[in-house]
Amino acid sequence: MTTTETDEFLAKLRAFEGLEVGIEVGADPVNQPMIRHWVEAIGDENPVYVDPDAARQSVHGQVIPPPVMLQAWVMRGIRARPAVGGNPRDELMRLLDEAGYSSVVATNCEQEYDRMLHLGDHLRTRTVIDSISEEKQTGLGIGHFVTTRVEYETLEGEPVGRMQFRILKFKPGTGRQSPAKEPTKGERPRRPRPSITADNAFFFEGARQHRLLIQRCSTCGVLRHPPEPRCAACGSYEWEAQEASGRGVVYSFVVNHYPQVPAFDYPLAVGLIELEEGTRLVANVVGLEPSDVRIGMPVEVEWLDLDPDLTLPAFHPAP
Ligand code: ZN
Repeated sequence: MTTTETDEFLAKLRAFEGLEVGIEVGADPVNQPMIRHWVEAIGDENPVYVDPDAARQSVHGQVIPPPVMLQAWVMRGIRARPAVGGNPRDELMRLLDEAGYSSVVATNCEQEYDRMLHLGDHLRTRTVIDSISEEKQTGLGIGHFVTTRVEYETLEGEPVGRMQFRILKFKPGTGRQSPAKEPTKGERPRRPRPSITADNAFFFEGARQHRLLIQRCSTCGVLRHPPEPRCAACGSYEWEAQEASGRGVVYSFVVNHYPQVPAFDYPLAVGLIELEEGTRLVANVVGLEPSDVRIGMPVEVEWLDLDPDLTLPAFHPAP
């Protein structure tokens, strides 16, 4: 497309900003079978979702669905026909499809909950098309990010939550990176690739050299991580990389059990490490049982050379 055509197409897309999709009603009220299928698929064994006796003794007093199921209660079936008369979201998707942006991937999802849901709650949504980005080159391909805002309420009109949802509609085959190599049989799947940007490339380059580099504002000296273009303390865009000693303490941590990604071992200890230089970063905690990780534990960096183009820091207990 020429620049003028690109501008005209973007204007056409942006005409959808602020439009309401209209009210959509969930096919079924919150129900036990759907909860059971969901938690089995995710591998979540918390009894509060499926066992009425255990749920009664919990702080919830009754069975609840996992809060992140929110969208499941109003989701259209994969073969659902577009709404009668069309709605602006379907029209926008058709416009993008016809222009070649036919692939889709969800990139961001933020949910807020007003209360826990219960069996029998029947939900409906009001959706607004929030924004459409200009055309971007991403690792997956050239595309537009489309952000929607969804308000969830019961059929009685009680608000129960909201979601901001962003997808990338992109042209297949226009990605910057070749797709990850499929593991051959018996070979361990590769770790998910980090998204390398102009701001964070130095960090991963440093990691390949087994150097833990963090950003320091050149103007006021404040350290920051993860990498950002601008200093939050003074507003300066000038920064330099400082090599950290690799020593620190576990500031906080989680032990992840699910969902499980084949490239990792579970349970997986993920720490928020406070470096002795004074900033924090997220990394795997290794070299001990995940159940033995403690807040305040002194740790030091080691390097995981995962494959030829990916090295990541991890932290083990300091001797
Ligand atoms: Zn600064």
